[in-house]
Amino acid sequence: MRTRTMLPYGRQTIEDDDIEAVAAVLRGDWLTTGPTVTAFEEALAAAVGAPRVVSCTSGTAALHMAYAGAGVGPGDEVITTPMTFVATASSAVALGAKVTFVDVEPDTANIDPAAVRAAITDDTAVVAAVDYAGHPAELDELNEIAHAHGALTVEDAAHSIGATYRGRPVGSVADLTTFSFFPTKNMTTAEGGGVAALDPAIAQAVHEFHFIGLVRDRDRMRYPDEGPWHQEVHSYGVNYRLPDVLCALGLSQLAKLARFKARRTEIFARYTEGLADVAGVTPPVVRDHVDPTWHLYPVRILDGRRREVFDSMRERGIGVQVNYLPAHWHPLFEDQGYRRGQFPHAEQFYAEELSLPMWPGLTDQQVDQVIEELRTSLSA
Ligand SMILES: *Cc1c(COP(=O)(O)O)cnc(C)c1O
Repeated sequence: MRTRTMLPYGRQTIEDDDIEAVAAVLRGDWLTTGPTVTAFEEALAAAVGAPRVVSCTSGTAALHMAYAGAGVGPGDEVITTPMTFVATASSAVALGAKVTFVDVEPDTANIDPAAVRAAITDDTAVVAAVDYAGHPAELDELNEIAHAHGALTVEDAAHSIGATYRGRPVGSVADLTTFSFFPTKNMTTAEGGGVAALDPAIAQAVHEFHFIGLVRDRDRMRYPDEGPWHQEVHSYGVNYRLPDVLCALGLSQLAKLARFKARRTEIFARYTEGLADVAGVTPPVVRDHVDPTWHLYPVRILDGRRREVFDSMRERGIGVQVNYLPAHWHPLFEDQGYRRGQFPHAEQFYAEELSLPMWPGLTDQQVDQVIEELRTSLSA
């Protein structure tokens, strides 16, 4: 049998000038920790409206850094959503924190502020939201609840760079915002990520954590007279540095983000319009006060038919995906006492969710083909 190429649910858009930008850095003096890192971080900060962004090697690394910068440690609690990629929760486990899941809003699948309000305690260090599919969470309410308890907000914006919430860019609203530049995301550096922080001291802590914990400011050194070569480590850190080579790709991609977003918005509208008369599905909702960057198109397949429709679409060459297995179903969290059935909104969403192909390079014709294949799969 001839293998048919599968239309993927997400993929990168790499153009000749992206390749040129990377090649130019490869020909230069700095492969890593040079001027292109600084340029990328400054451009990101300007784009997302944050005083500082620290680049890093993945969205998972970004979450680890954000929690570390927020001071999360043993005995602390991190409240988060089950409707996410597991890293939002597991990165807090890495620092010894207890993860408290709370349920999502039934329509957006974003963390429910009322559930956060009910669960927050004096041990809560962070409330971590996810902008599911690119639709920002209720950030103002989450900030208010967290700050009233002395906690910080972390926004996992792996899906939503370029989006706005009440007219403010994602990256300028939560205390810390994390990004992923994995190839399926809204822009890519192959592997990569970033952390935006509103407080400069927290941003510096995030930077030092991802840079082995090295302190290079003489005023803060315990032994400042050791010599010109001297640097000190005051607390544990990792090496999550994103090299100049990949920052060059990031800079080049960032300049295209508005165009990528506009195309994703068009595709979103085409799917929603095309699915309007299809029985047995519910298209995603959009709140009035947000302007999403659509990383996913999460259609809901009703009447218990998701698995059947998934298999049928894959058979027809449409690389649909399911995002995500509820995070508390992973054995890591099951072994901490979480059980299936605990978060009915998230679990029902998971049972119905199907991600249709969504990336800027899709043609209108391909979008229409996906809609037709879905119609056919449902009428079987
Ligand atoms: C992709 C993703 C991550 C992790 O990013 P990586 O760059 O793959 O490590 C974290 N959270 C969410 C919601 C994601 O979609």
